[in-house]
Amino acid sequence: MLNQGLTEISRALTRGDYTSAELTAAYLERIEQHNSGLNAYITITGEQALSQANAADALRASGNAGPFTGVPLAHKDIFCTTGIRTSCGSRMLDNFIAPYNATVVEKFNQAGAVMLGKTNMDEFAMGSSNETSWYGPVRNPWNRELVPGGSSGGSAAAVAAHLCPAATATDTGGSIRQPASFCGLTGIKPTYGRVSRWGMIAFASSLDQAGVLTRSAEDAALMMNVMSGFDPKDSTSVELPVPDYLADIDKPLQGLRIGLPSQHFAEGLGKDVELQIRAALAEFEKMGATLKEISLDNSHLSVSAYYVIAPAEASANLSRYDGVRYGYRCNNPVDLEDLYKRSRAEGFGAEVKRRIMVGTYALSAGYYDAYYKKAQQIRRLIKEDFMRAFAEVDVIMGPTSPHTAFALGSKTKDPVKMYLEDIYTIAVNLAGLPGMSIPAGMVDGLPVGLQIVGRDFDETRLLNIAHRFQQATDWHTRTPGV
Ligand code: GLN
Repeated sequence: MLNQGLTEISRALTRGDYTSAELTAAYLERIEQHNSGLNAYITITGEQALSQANAADALRASGNAGPFTGVPLAHKDIFCTTGIRTSCGSRMLDNFIAPYNATVVEKFNQAGAVMLGKTNMDEFAMGSSNETSWYGPVRNPWNRELVPGGSSGGSAAAVAAHLCPAATATDTGGSIRQPASFCGLTGIKPTYGRVSRWGMIAFASSLDQAGVLTRSAEDAALMMNVMSGFDPKDSTSVELPVPDYLADIDKPLQGLRIGLPSQHFAEGLGKDVELQIRAALAEFEKMGATLKEISLDNSHLSVSAYYVIAPAEASANLSRYDGVRYGYRCNNPVDLEDLYKRSRAEGFGAEVKRRIMVGTYALSAGYYDAYYKKAQQIRRLIKEDFMRAFAEVDVIMGPTSPHTAFALGSKTKDPVKMYLEDIYTIAVNLAGLPGMSIPAGMVDGLPVGLQIVGRDFDETRLLNIAHRFQQATDWHTRTPGV
């Protein structure tokens, strides 16, 4: 049963193949066996999981079960959970126990889901390899010497190694899609505003969006049905009705117009990865889609613009961690200034500090126009590139990453190298668009991800396209032998 995805689990629970308590116990046992080697979970909530499972089984017995009743999952440790530590991968929040649930968590609880634990992540979601976590790096289940991708590396490793059937994640510049690509998973970052950010610890508020990592597009649709929608507590959540993401998932792809950005098939893309992506695109042609080369003229500016905007917003968001209100506090401060300084110096890791410095600089009076304002102008141009493209095509496809998973430690000394990890994904966040990554091939035994980008709020289409591809291919069914 641990090989099943969410959709199969939901059906199996309905049929009574096993109970939620049995399934949950089996997952907890597997986590117990394999988590120390992978470091995918920061916190395992066994006791609470079993009590949620028993409650779900009782609800089912009374005839009141929904599709998610008793289904286990894990939450990225960026989502606040009542009474359970929410660390955000940081020493700063190692002692933080939230007094409330994030809206996303609350929605899954209401739907009857069982939380197995909280997954590891880059500190404050800053990273592309899951190596900046205070709790240590996560290992890629396909090869433990490699990174799982980041920042949602714990969620990705947990799903890939079958330590949970699905997990929540977040994506500010690529943190769902890149780990999905490296671990052979389906990942979706919805349109900015589609899912509530309330209770999701803020990194860069105009870019952060919650999404999921699953084993199939169908599973992702099932989760999107639970977590999407307007939230009066999040002023940036959008008041639009939520479609049933499963309703159109089988629609044929005849006539679909796919745009291929020339910039994503240029220098820098690994030849072996490109071959796999081209083969996947041919699969779409067989299904009746047409391919058209497009240009995203300003895409070469996206990483630079992001690394001004994201640190700027981060520097403001992280000013709240001052050692006074909550979180880490240094020992024996001599005065208030010492308290601030040492709490932040000891509580934050190197990458977080680097971003706070860059962001503070970019927002300072003398430099605001030269950096922050300029970056916002570039952001507009990037959005316009996409709008022009979507006048001609329905979706945009390309590689999620130029390469497969890389070796642990191989990029930690060079921040710019690490920043370039999100070269194909970052523009999508700057434009606020929905993006997916699905398994679309293998190179030397490692998964390759195909990125699919849609128009605003066109998640239905993305899930449909991904699902049809998964009906025709079996890349998403490959699993690492753990
Ligand atoms: N790798 C990017 C960064 O470090 C994106 C991270 C994310 O999407 N949370 O900022």
